[in-house]
Amino acid sequence: MTKQTPRLSDRLYDDLWLPKETLEIRDNVRTFATQVLAPVAHELNNTPESVNGFPWHLVKSMGEAGLFRIPFSKADGGLGLEYPALATMVMLEETAYVSSGIAAALIDVQLILFGHTLQHASPTVKAKLFPTLYAGDIVGAFATSEPAASTDLSINALQTRATRVTGGYRLTGRKRWITNSPVAHYMFVLCKLDQSMTMLLVDMKAQGVKVGEPDKKMGNHAQLTADVYFDDVFVPADHLVGEEAKGLKSALTSLTLGRVGIGACGVGMAQAAFDFAVDYMHNRSVFGKPLSNFQYWQFRFADYATQLESARNLYVKAAIAQDTGRASVATQCAMAKLVGSSLAGDLARDAIQVCGGYGFVKELAATGQQFPLEAIYRDSKIGEIYEGANEIQRLLVARQIFGKDAVG
Ligand SMILES: Cc1cc2nc3c(=O)[nH]c(=O)nc-3n(C[C@H](O)[C@H](O)[C@H](O)COP(=O)(O)OP(=O)(O)OC[C@H]3O[C@@H](n4cnc5c(N)ncnc54)[C@H](O)[C@@H]3O)c2cc1C
Repeated sequence: MTKQTPRLSDRLYDDLWLPKETLEIRDNVRTFATQVLAPVAHELNNTPESVNGFPWHLVKSMGEAGLFRIPFSKADGGLGLEYPALATMVMLEETAYVSSGIAAALIDVQLILFGHTLQHASPTVKAKLFPTLYAGDIVGAFATSEPAASTDLSINALQTRATRVTGGYRLTGRKRWITNSPVAHYMFVLCKLDQSMTMLLVDMKAQGVKVGEPDKKMGNHAQLTADVYFDDVFVPADHLVGEEAKGLKSALTSLTLGRVGIGACGVGMAQAAFDFAVDYMHNRSVFGKPLSNFQYWQFRFADYATQLESARNLYVKAAIAQDTGRASVATQCAMAKLVGSSLAGDLARDAIQVCGGYGFVKELAATGQQFPLEAIYRDSKIGEIYEGANEIQRLLVARQIFGKDAVG
């Protein structure tokens, strides 16, 4: 994305519902995304996954800019905002506007799945890890998925198992698709203990932990995932999160919030595709007039502006529901994820269509010019799959309509 591309959301979207504190956060994150992330985004978004390519400098810069404190309470050393979930979602939109992979790895996983779960860890663990998280000195991961248990996180599907030993637990099993795992210092792991699920915090340097090579994926190249193996790993007792047998509840609490984050990332990617395409349509003429003068495309983009307004309103409302403890939060989060993630793919596809070859290309050999839509299209697909496939979001909404007996 060139810096000159006008940000159309500033003109088209009414910030009616955003408190002053959220607008300030948005300004700060946008400045960071434009000045620090954007210059390296094309390379990050287009270079195949590797541990050596992990952007440690960005982790450190985000820490120095204070961005990792945004979601957390004063008691935990965070900013103590009145609307922390809302600020986190706006941060995700702004970051995904430039790089979906970075938004997913360093905000959705690092701050929501890892950071949010850390809030429920023991006081000693929190006192040790929160300052290092804020400073950008550690990277965290969060592991529920396994080769045969991802969408289905039932006790019979889950294979990673812990047993009690003197001073703690021993952990054995295997996790799959774990974001940040090739570079992580700590990882929350959902495991079976007796006949229920428990969440433990694993030090990735502990004996018996092994991480595979990063997976090679269709998109989100800056988001490293891998298989993680636990071979009789000792986990000290104070690395238990909350209480034994409450692990699934803890995981679902973080995942519910993470879902809104995926919706917000979708809005960021959709807005980036929209802005690029509209700018292009003004400047490209076919049959003697700019593409922006063709009613077909005017109407399509009018529809997309409307969908962007709806998708952004949904994630904003879901985040406020989270911040104010509304009973509707799970349904709101499901709707926000469903709409935001679907819109990103739909908009990217049509943005590529109207930009023609300049939508399809990532770098034009003749000029060296870089183009963003190809990466946005690839990156958008995973939003419909992870943190609860969109069919699961439909299932959650359907439950509200037809009841659990009918839906399951
Ligand atoms: C890039 C990436 C990053 C990830 N990061 C993490 C991470 O950090 N931590 C972690 O624990 N996991 C992570 N995951 C795992 C991710 O959340 C799972 O991939 C996702 O939950 C889907 O699981 P699966 O791929 O095994 O598909 P399955 O569970 O096998 O499901 C396949 C498909 O079946 C369909 N389906 C499933 N259930 C239903 C239903 N009830 N009704 C109708 N259709 C249904 C859906 O279309 C779904 O996409 C990541 C995955 C990827 C690809």
